[in-house]
Amino acid sequence: MSVSKEFLKGLPKAELHLHLEGTLEPELKLRLAQKNHVDIGQSTIEEVKASYQFDSLTSFLMVYYPAMNVLQDEEDFCALAVDYLKKAKDHNVKHCELFFDPQAHTSRGVPFETVINGYYKGIEIGREMGVDAHLIMCFLRDMSADSAMETWKAAQPYLNKILGIGLDSDERDNPPLKFAEVFDLAKKKGVHVSMHCDIDQINSIGHIYDVIHKIGVERIDHGTNIVEDPALVDYVVDHKIGFTCCPVSNSFVTEDMKGREMVYLLQRGALVTVNSDDPAYFQSYISDDYYALATKYHLSEDDMIQIAKNSFNASWISEEAKKRYIRMIDEYVASVRA
Ligand SMILES: [Zn+2]
Repeated sequence: MSVSKEFLKGLPKAELHLHLEGTLEPELKLRLAQKNHVDIGQSTIEEVKASYQFDSLTSFLMVYYPAMNVLQDEEDFCALAVDYLKKAKDHNVKHCELFFDPQAHTSRGVPFETVINGYYKGIEIGREMGVDAHLIMCFLRDMSADSAMETWKAAQPYLNKILGIGLDSDERDNPPLKFAEVFDLAKKKGVHVSMHCDIDQINSIGHIYDVIHKIGVERIDHGTNIVEDPALVDYVVDHKIGFTCCPVSNSFVTEDMKGREMVYLLQRGALVTVNSDDPAYFQSYISDDYYALATKYHLSEDDMIQIAKNSFNASWISEEAKKRYIRMIDEYVASVRA
């Protein structure tokens, strides 16, 4: 029996791999450009939509970063977060841990506090809407380790608003160990840690080994190249290290969704989760990613229920909260099947 889109949309789930800057829909981009008098080179929704075209990570990043110029004040960051959280609620996301990239804004003159306070305002509105949202501060790996350290220092007065730290942007020539020092400091402060290990990079498996054994991450963002090393797979299964996979995003920047790898990891008992990454750019919100993976790889309802349960088990919430959300999934499934 194939899985319906409606079933997947209603399934309670957590989103663990989502870049707030990647939720900038053409409508909001245009509205903020006009409000802040920023020339983005397009003046209609259709023109902005047409500019969201990519066939590689590099071509994606060339559209992605300049778009952020429209984000100027606290209200803009808040509006971006709230727009996403409304969509999350619509897809029955109960809990989310959201990436943001402060350096993409501080490097163009926007103060750190504007970014964090704006996003956090949005987070609070999301919680009032019933979506338990949190922030993960990412460092841009194509910037220097010193810049990451400066960002970490700027974040110190706001650590109560930051659940974890992460690492994103272009992995080429920017290995995990470049940031070992700042991740070590964060771990000592009790901040959760995760890193991107993008698909099919030069020395992907070496980077995955390092994030697990040398950095000591609790989750890996993408990371499906781990299938190349069965011993490492055993390790992540034993240590419950989660994978935040993004099938539709993968199909934009590589030749496929990497669903075979996800299914293999799922069968091995790894905490594989499915997420939307940059949904405005890939035109796919979380249930669409669930649906795309389920239909292409003929996954069953039970497989997708397992993925939804994994999303809570891989999240950074209490054991009690995990149980509560998993009960919610069981109740949903029972009501649909009744
Ligand atoms: Zn990502």
